[in-house]
Amino acid sequence: MTDQKAPEQGTISIHTENIFPIIKKWLYSEKEIFLRELVSNAVDAIHKLQHVNLIEGLQLSADYAVDVVVDAEAKTLTIRDNGIGMTADEIRRYINQVAFSSAEEFVERFKDLEDKNQIIGHFGLGFYSSFMVADRVEIRSLSYQEGAVGANWSCDGTTAYELEEIDLQTRGTEIVLHLAEEEKEFLEAFRVKEVLTRYCNFLPIPIRLDEEVVNDQNPLWTRTPGEISNDEYVAFYRKLYPLADEPLFWIHLNIDFPFNLKGILYFPKLTTEFDLTKSHIKLFCNQVFVTDNCPELIPEFLAPLQGCLDAPDLPLNISRSYLQNEPQVRKIQEVISGRVAGKLFDLAKADRVAFGKVWEDIHTFVKFGMMRDEKFNNKLKDHVVYALAGSEEWVTLPEYLEKAAAKHANKVYYTTNEAAQATYLKLFKAQEIDVLVLDAPIDSHFIQFVEMGNSDLVFARVDADVTENLLEQDAAGELVDDAEGKNRDQRIQELFEQTLNAEDGLKVRVESLKDDSVPTMVLFAEQMRRFQEMTRTIGKEALPQVEESTLLVNAASPVVRHALDFQKAGHPEEATLLVEQMYDLAMLNCQVFDRERMEKFLERSNQLLGRIVPQEDGEA
Ligand code: ADP
Repeated sequence: MTDQKAPEQGTISIHTENIFPIIKKWLYSEKEIFLRELVSNAVDAIHKLQHVNLIEGLQLSADYAVDVVVDAEAKTLTIRDNGIGMTADEIRRYINQVAFSSAEEFVERFKDLEDKNQIIGHFGLGFYSSFMVADRVEIRSLSYQEGAVGANWSCDGTTAYELEEIDLQTRGTEIVLHLAEEEKEFLEAFRVKEVLTRYCNFLPIPIRLDEEVVNDQNPLWTRTPGEISNDEYVAFYRKLYPLADEPLFWIHLNIDFPFNLKGILYFPKLTTEFDLTKSHIKLFCNQVFVTDNCPELIPEFLAPLQGCLDAPDLPLNISRSYLQNEPQVRKIQEVISGRVAGKLFDLAKADRVAFGKVWEDIHTFVKFGMMRDEKFNNKLKDHVVYALAGSEEWVTLPEYLEKAAAKHANKVYYTTNEAAQATYLKLFKAQEIDVLVLDAPIDSHFIQFVEMGNSDLVFARVDADVTENLLEQDAAGELVDDAEGKNRDQRIQELFEQTLNAEDGLKVRVESLKDDSVPTMVLFAEQMRRFQEMTRTIGKEALPQVEESTLLVNAASPVVRHALDFQKAGHPEEATLLVEQMYDLAMLNCQVFDRERMEKFLERSNQLLGRIVPQEDGEA
């Protein structure tokens, strides 16, 4: 050590003296990414060595690893690799001649930039991000090349540096960060581990923190789909989202052409408080975590998807604005929606019952997707399943229409509430007409959408009208039955209209239903009701308007006939009692009674009960 040379002193070749303060200030909010950058460089250095090893047939063998070492006493954080190393000359070239050739341009272009993350990658500033947390940074490196001499570089965050030869025995690079006073958090092992787990959890080379390996080098998405069990997929999901429920199903992407894209996308069990606006996909670039906030990568309607994507062709330091303008991102979206459609298609075909169960969780965003994306819709429209009212069964639209062809071609009956529409459902059931359950908020829009795609098709809610299939051809209703030349049905109509005349605008229609057990029901014209529902969403009255409804009176009902008989026999009080009660019963399902009306209804109900009970004779 006698002829030790004095260290070389020089300045880093950038034009703006104050570049480091700028870096520090701008990147402050995301400063923890310095660790991602340094560990990525270390992994790259190992990959480079593996590469030359292969090409040059060097017999270098090593336990490749990156070590992160915290030394609280010395206040240093060290990132050490046994990769390719750098000679002093290479340090001059790769580190001193900072890749941002024009610092003025750099400052000019990015002074207002929101997304600071992209500066780093764009200007090859990865290494210099270490100055966000360190007062002084040292590089100690020994190149793999034969006869190489160790190099020691040191810089305190100004443009001045020192570089000298030193005696080093082990190949590789060590970056020593002398942490700034206010960055002491990075002297806490748990804090360093947190950052490593976030960004380096799936790097392909072992990352050790104080000798303990912290990463999984073969994450599931890098393995062959056919060799992975369901349990492994679920376990991996748990690793990504420790607090989540079991996923419903998943898709493993393994694409080489026309671009590289690997990943596993999970359909989570959706909870009501799920935030649809935020993407939950974790984006990686060659196993380096990039971000979990990149909604641009998947189609908007698939926002609930979770999991990970590894897109090595995208730059590590992507920005939101980059993603929005990148044509490749469009292609990635297309691939993903295509694969999701394919997966749903397969599931629907494989097991209807199992698919029905899953469907309840996913139908909202699948329907939303179908309305948004034509290709997605084309692939799925004939495979979407609908629950049949009053059964556990699921049918597709083509199946429903085929069965309906003879009785009610191109007409689809549905219910939005099986309990409230029970009376109507009973009539349909008696005539063996299938009714679909479409009770979700999205369904009213979805119905319109399906109708728009099929000009012949009409959806009608069970209470929209009475179909021919429910009506009896009843000749008696046409027979003139009194001196004024009126027939029975006309008399019934008069009776109801006169009795209920307090109800403005109520329309009465008399028909004979095949089922005589239902005396009255209210009909709401389909289009009118839909229009009302639409306006309701923008803040209008929540209840159907009486003016728009029709009271259907079933002339086949013995109660209706009896009311008419009472009137004819000169007992108008009884007739009124029955008519009012029948009307209220029909309205009860679709209107909230005000206090006055409810009181009357209850009083009348009690009065009717009283009539069934035998009257006590005489006074006590
Ligand atoms: P980038 O990684 O974007 O090229 P950096 O500033 O992070 O920019 O690094 C500049 C260069 O320094 C790298 O391209 C590489 O050649 C060299 N380098 C950095 N870290 C290491 C390391 N640990 N081992 C070997 N070379 C390194």
